[in-house]
Amino acid sequence: QVKSREVEALMNKHLPKRTTAILHDLGRTGDQLDLTVYAVGGFVRDLLLDIQNMDIDVTVDGDGILFAETFAAQFGCRVKSHQKFGTAVIVFPDGFKIDVASTRLEYYVSPGALPTVERSSLKMDLYRRDFTVNTLAIALNGESFGRLIDYFGAYRDLQSRVIRVLHNLSFVEDPTRVFRAIRFEQRLNFKIAKHTEDLIKNAVKMEFLEKLGGRRLLSELVQILREKEPLKGIGRMASLGLLRFIHPSIELTPAMQGALDETRYVVSWFDLLYLERPYERWSVYFLTLCEGLSEEQFLGTCTRLAVAEHYKERLVEMRKEGERLIAALERKVAGSEKVENSEIYFTLRGLPVEVLLYHMAKSRSAEVKRCISLYFTKLDGMHPQIRGEDLKELGVAPGPLYRELLDLVLSARLNGKAASREDEIRLVREVLGGV
Ligand code: ATP
Repeated sequence: QVKSREVEALMNKHLPKRTTAILHDLGRTGDQLDLTVYAVGGFVRDLLLDIQNMDIDVTVDGDGILFAETFAAQFGCRVKSHQKFGTAVIVFPDGFKIDVASTRLEYYVSPGALPTVERSSLKMDLYRRDFTVNTLAIALNGESFGRLIDYFGAYRDLQSRVIRVLHNLSFVEDPTRVFRAIRFEQRLNFKIAKHTEDLIKNAVKMEFLEKLGGRRLLSELVQILREKEPLKGIGRMASLGLLRFIHPSIELTPAMQGALDETRYVVSWFDLLYLERPYERWSVYFLTLCEGLSEEQFLGTCTRLAVAEHYKERLVEMRKEGERLIAALERKVAGSEKVENSEIYFTLRGLPVEVLLYHMAKSRSAEVKRCISLYFTKLDGMHPQIRGEDLKELGVAPGPLYRELLDLVLSARLNGKAASREDEIRLVREVLGGV
């Protein structure tokens, strides 16, 4: 059994000083109110595994909202609370957040539905969790600070690196746990326990997953695709027969595996190049998984998975538009003439990163891949040095001609034919002189 001292030592070693101080403050507020307070779930799991996790979840034996409000008043934080669920979020002035729950028992009225909530004990609260490794709690109150509470053999499972459900009906209660099991297994490099895997197979066979609402399925799928190594999760989904919940025709054939490998290669290349550039990485994999679907099938899948309306339209439209533009680029490349940088630029401009990466992975043409790569590394982000004001000074009346002239100058720049501002002005003069 792990001692409080050892847990505290782990905290001191792995957590920022401020986090440990906050945990002590939470315990002190609990002491004042005579409420028992615990850190629970993923935070504790990751602390014991030495994985950074800044999402502190706290459970209070009693009124969690009162606790959160008292804490917030003492430490200058804000609180957002949900009376109905007995939960609150403490928000620090710098945006740091702590989730607070009251011990509670959640009933699943029907499989796949949202739970209804009632008060209960910590043990019951932890019992309704997905896997043993997520059931650990650490006491935060003064005297008992650091005491590890392990009702369900979680510590043993952490050590033997096993994902295990708490009871046989777990996947019937909530089929999203099937995807969560895969996500944790792949992320933590654990193994789904044999009996748990059998329960998953059974849930798939008994068609419990069919009851899953599209939104919840999508959310779990997106989380798997957002992991560092999504291919491992996809492979596991395939071996458990889960890809068909995206669309019945999706299979991990050797061709699909090849497409996914290429996608991973391209995504890693891009991430290495642009560490901080935000984009929806998951949708590049999603597009690849769906590459064999017709437009109607793809639209149907996005609708069933409840992809947000604006994003769905964007994906469907861009997928189609990307297809058309890349085909045009392929034709150009196939013709023996040199493809000018400006042609690459004006063909690809406007396509989102996700769609470009998808096509970069998908295209069989090394030359097309090179064009897209060149677009990212060099062409995208190039601008003419002259601006509208310069055109005005040159006597051009404001109007649509501005756009045309600036694009013309940009083309020259992209093709290496205008290196300086002077070159650009000369070019505009030439064009205007010829009008
Ligand atoms: P992550 O690092 O991905 O956020 P996490 O362990 O914090 O992992 P969350 O999805 O944030 O996972 O969920 C927080 C906690 O709530 C988990 O530790 C888990 O025990 C519990 N939980 C979440 N979803 C379910 C579910 N579908 N069924 C049971 N328990 C769940």
